[in-house]
Amino acid sequence: MAEEKMERKPEEGKTGVGKEKDDGAGAEVAGRSRLLIYTCFNDGAGNYVDPSWMSFTCWRCGNLTYV
Ligand SMILES: [Zn+2]
Repeated sequence: MAEEKMERKPEEGKTGVGKEKDDGAGAEVAGRSRLLIYTCFNDGAGNYVDPSWMSFTCWRCGNLTYV
């Protein structure tokens, strides 16, 4: 029987979907880490991502980008 290849997901580091807007920008929350903004190379959309993430999924086009 042929083994189906499992979709491999990185277990080291975190990933998530980028945010169109920085939710924490308007609210003054002490101790909250700032989000970093990365530009999706696929469509140029700005994505706010957590600094601890190793990759993010573009909120607009769904493209996976490694930071
Ligand atoms: Zn994109």
